Amino acid sequence: MTYDPLISRGVSSSLPVANSYWHATYAPATLSPLNKKLSTDYLVIGGGYTGLSAAITLAQAKQQVTLVDANSLGFGCAGRNGGFVLSGSGRLSLSAIESKWGNNIAQGMQAEFDGAVNLLKKRISDFNMQVDFVEGPYFKLAHNEKQATLLHDSAKHLKTAFNVPSTPLSQDAITSRFGIEGVHGGVKVDGACLHPLKLVSEYARVAKELGASLYFDSPALRIEKHRNGFVVTTPNGTITAKHLLIATNAYTPKRFHSSVDNKQFPVQSSIFVTAPLNEQQRTQTGLTESMSFMDTRMMKYYYRVLPDGRLLFGGRGAVKGRDANNDSEKQRLYRAMTKSFPALAGIAMDYFWSGWVSVSLDSMPRIFIDGDNDIGPTSRSYQCGYAMGYCGSGVSFAAFAGQRLAQRMMNINSADWSLPLYQSPLKAYPFAKARRLALHGLYQWAKVAER
Ligand SMILES: Cc1cc2nc3c(=O)[nH]c(=O)nc-3n(C[C@H](O)[C@H](O)[C@H](O)COP(=O)(O)OP(=O)(O)OC[C@H]3O[C@@H](n4cnc5c(N)ncnc54)[C@H](O)[C@@H]3O)c2cc1C
Repeated sequence: MTYDPLISRGVSSSLPVANSYWHATYAPATLSPLNKKLSTDYLVIGGGYTGLSAAITLAQAKQQVTLVDANSLGFGCAGRNGGFVLSGSGRLSLSAIESKWGNNIAQGMQAEFDGAVNLLKKRISDFNMQVDFVEGPYFKLAHNEKQATLLHDSAKHLKTAFNVPSTPLSQDAITSRFGIEGVHGGVKVDGACLHPLKLVSEYARVAKELGASLYFDSPALRIEKHRNGFVVTTPNGTITAKHLLIATNAYTPKRFHSSVDNKQFPVQSSIFVTAPLNEQQRTQTGLTESMSFMDTRMMKYYYRVLPDGRLLFGGRGAVKGRDANNDSEKQRLYRAMTKSFPALAGIAMDYFWSGWVSVSLDSMPRIFIDGDNDIGPTSRSYQCGYAMGYCGSGVSFAAFAGQRLAQRMMNINSADWSLPLYQSPLKAYPFAKARRLALHGLYQWAKVAER
């Protein structure tokens, strides 16, 4: 049974975790469910990177914090993603942000995006987190000549305006290094990857060590606003909280809380992992060491070489949750891989799984406190806030967003709250029910336009 945020009633504790390579190579700790009534100052709903990072930040500030998650550690995106550590979030590039809001705002956003990667690295070091973090080149590959020119121009601009170092690569430079087809040029930047399930598990360990109370297999079923805060009901418990942090991202049930209902679009992304490449396949493809790739299609393909020599390959998933594991979905992705790497034709697909990414209407994530339309930290006594809408880019940024949400709730003036990320709530989707129809249409267009 596949969870579908737009159809299912909510994440339940009985849903199985993804059949992922991550779950096959690591078993996270089992955390107990909530079986009592309690009260807390801060309640975090959702125990992925966003929620656990918010809990860490609150616990570090000696606040009383409780977190509930509907399923087990890594049930959501945290146990399903590709493990690419990217500087950025949402779907807008720094250049796009600059064109829309000007250079100052773009510089501010870059500082937040880079801050997210730095926070990840700092926590790995400070808390000795074992997450298989490995650095290696990250290649952005153009799927046609126009995109190659745009990539090269954009790399030049990023170097001059934002001091982002990169190496432009011609088609020849790429095809002489890799046995790859359909690539017209690219750019190489510094990249890094990790084991995403180990990361969420380490965040849980740290949050617990710092004093946060964590309960898993405990879905928040009902949220009620009371005079002195919020009352949240789980199947076997009740929590009274002064402040509420919603960190359920794309796994948010369709009717949950007015601040987030219809404000993000859950879209599926799917991944498969091959058998380890043999010597001949490694030589023919050039996929010989830890490295990662992303192309320029609107429906992007992304892939990386795993530490044990397998290839992880991802792209868009099915429109509906119930179609996630159809053979046609697996074959579509597999064909895309063999089209790029003909030498891998016939290699076994050992794992295949899907997950939901949270797409915001204007491609910009939000960290926002309900009803807080003033710029700057809020001073209200009972607050409800959320962080979500990362558009498939949250391995480093979701944890940073969780930290910022907690800081904003604690009135810590740590950021430039006038940045577009913090200034306004997530926009509601018009015609929310037609979202899937539109997505289906977009996929049909991409099939022809982005062969
Ligand atoms: C296939 C795929 C590949 C991706 N690859 C990358 C990548 O390589 N790099 C990158 O930067 N990003 C990637 N992402 C995106 C990234 O994984 C997410 O942005 C990030 O994990 C979001 O973290 P989160 O904590 O906000 O959400 P999640 O990790 O999804 O956590 C949300 C949690 O909320 C819980 N929940 C839901 N409802 C309730 C409820 N009612 N009560 C209690 N708990 C509830 C869920 O059980 C879940 O654990 C990918 C995503 C997918 C799906």
